[in-house]
Amino acid sequence: MTTSCGFVAIIGEPNAGKSTLINALVWQKIAITTPKPQTTRTNVRGVVIEGRSQIIFIDTPGIFGAEHKFEKAMVKAAWAGAGDADAVLLLVDATKGITEGLEALLSALAPLAKKPIFAVINKLDKVKKERLLELATALSSHKLFREILFISALKSDGLSELKSLLAGLMPQGPFHYPDDEVSDVQLRTLAAEITREKLFFLMAQELPYASLVETEQWDESEGMARISQVVYVQREAHKKMVIGEKGAMIKRIGSSSRRELEKMLGKKVHLELFVKVRAGWKDDRETYRLLNLNE
Ligand code: GDP
Ligand code: MG
Repeated sequence: MTTSCGFVAIIGEPNAGKSTLINALVWQKIAITTPKPQTTRTNVRGVVIEGRSQIIFIDTPGIFGAEHKFEKAMVKAAWAGAGDADAVLLLVDATKGITEGLEALLSALAPLAKKPIFAVINKLDKVKKERLLELATALSSHKLFREILFISALKSDGLSELKSLLAGLMPQGPFHYPDDEVSDVQLRTLAAEITREKLFFLMAQELPYASLVETEQWDESEGMARISQVVYVQREAHKKMVIGEKGAMIKRIGSSSRRELEKMLGKKVHLELFVKVRAGWKDDRETYRLLNLNE
């Protein structure tokens, strides 16, 4: 019996619902979803097995307002990801319609027109039918899309159609990720994202944009999970902030993250957090490697 496997890039403006869609597709919380734009740092992959097809989803970081070299590298990686993908989804926020940002994405997608590109209109739960149809008509005038689909990532509407459509487009070949690796990669990434999310919510806003969390160890035995993670910050002063008065802040972050990890894993978790300074990582080659980005 033959199998198929391929990559699907999800492109869209900040807040279009990319992370929500990937989460809904894989039934796991693997990328941060927040009302703040541009919180997605890495090309987090969700892996979905649909029948005899494996679909690897790439979440792309914000494509807008790149200033730092680091952010530019993320944008480049996002487009490189789309160029290598077997199919591309342009996620359109139905509540916003055709914005200037979306127009820019439409022109940027034109060179990829040889591959199957789908316009996926999201948040159908929030918008009247007439408006959805108007939007679809406007998008179809671009002649860029193989099909225009309507979904609600939040309510999981239209997702099984989307999955089977994509599964049918994946090229023949073996699965990229064996089953056990799928969950391993996703769990580690997920655990790091959960801790980073706690940093976001518990700390002053300026800090988390300059922080990165990596899961270093993961050891499950005797009915519990021992997880250690490193929080990388840019400056010694940031390290002090993350640790807090007598370690109060890191404790809050750690226990809040641990509680969520325990819920997710359904077992006791021992979580260790280390805070390390890595100066200038925004322009640091090693950081790119760590984030799995091409320069
Ligand atoms: P990203 O920046 O593209 O990754 O967007 P997120 O996935 O973080 O979503 C941004 C916001 O839109 C969040 O508040 C989501 O809950 C919300 N959202 C995403 N999909 C839907 C949807 O289908 N319906 C509604 N009503 N809200 C959605
Ligand atoms: Mg996101």
